[in-house]
Amino acid sequence: MKKSGFVHARACANIALSKYWGKSDLELNLPAVPSISMTLDGLVTKTRVRFDESLRADLVHLDGREASAAEARRVVELLHRVRGLAKITSYAEVHSENAFPTAAGLASSASGFAALAAAACKAAGLDYDEKRLSRIARRSSASAARSLFGGFVELPAGKPGNDGLAAKPLFGPEHWDLRIVVAVAAKGPKKIGSTEGMERSRHTSPFYEAWVADAPRLSQRVKKGLRDRDLDLLGRAMEQSTLAFHACAIASDPGIVYWQPATLAAFATVRRLRDEQGLSVWATMDAGPHVKALCHAEDARRVQAALKKTEGVLSTLVAKPGPGVVVRG
Ligand code: ADP
Repeated sequence: MKKSGFVHARACANIALSKYWGKSDLELNLPAVPSISMTLDGLVTKTRVRFDESLRADLVHLDGREASAAEARRVVELLHRVRGLAKITSYAEVHSENAFPTAAGLASSASGFAALAAAACKAAGLDYDEKRLSRIARRSSASAARSLFGGFVELPAGKPGNDGLAAKPLFGPEHWDLRIVVAVAAKGPKKIGSTEGMERSRHTSPFYEAWVADAPRLSQRVKKGLRDRDLDLLGRAMEQSTLAFHACAIASDPGIVYWQPATLAAFATVRRLRDEQGLSVWATMDAGPHVKALCHAEDARRVQAALKKTEGVLSTLVAKPGPGVVVRG
């Protein structure tokens, strides 16, 4: 391969409705528990990649600046795997922009590595479908495996050694007009990255095994709630999944506490909307301080207004079910 033009890919972040926390195989990056997510319209990463024989190294730009060594390392690892599959040796030039805060618990790694896998494979001459791209993205970030697909997506638990694990689409975005209202509860990147947090939980949390044992049951309930379009069933299982994962993380040594005062305040707002106003609205929190409230489209305005005036909440945004990865060039 001498030189290729840029290939562009666009992927959306996703929020896990049943949570992913813990790895069964660190090397292959396989999750210990099944997870189910909603792909989020508007929380977009745009990435462009080209391979060029005249480059002396991979060049990685993130959000308009040169990537840090740690950021570049994760990107280069994926590029190496793609070069191996395509049997090429050229270096690549990568530019990626997240249309939302990076590394803050809004799943930039999910949309980032989904877009990168899609753009890099196409640029290397590999004509892969979403399932194969999902496998490649999974090695960099398990939640990225889900962002290849639109709507509602499942990533099963991985058996150690099974490098074939990929996410699978459950229902398209048109299946159910739900909304996620994000209450941004703090600025800046999170202090403990997800991989570090998961490994610490696995090795030190007395609740880790209980979490892993119960997660499939919660994931099944989330799936049934989705299939039957039963938001009370789905929401209840989603909240328990969130609280069980955080309980596991909090009980690690040293404890991993992603919550801020505004997190609990926003969580209380969601419960109040449910208990006092009868809305079917449910909360989930990832490895970061933000609260994501799941509700029907027609209730999203009321939920957003209530979260906006919650003490400590900095801003809010609303997302509907979004599309899978799109590649051009
Ligand atoms: P988040 O909650 O945003 O997913 P993580 O700490 O799990 O936070 O992942 C953030 C990391 O993912 C960044 O530090 C960077 O290494 C990587 N990342 C984020 N966005 C991109 C992108 N667009 N392209 C490549 N890598 C990215």
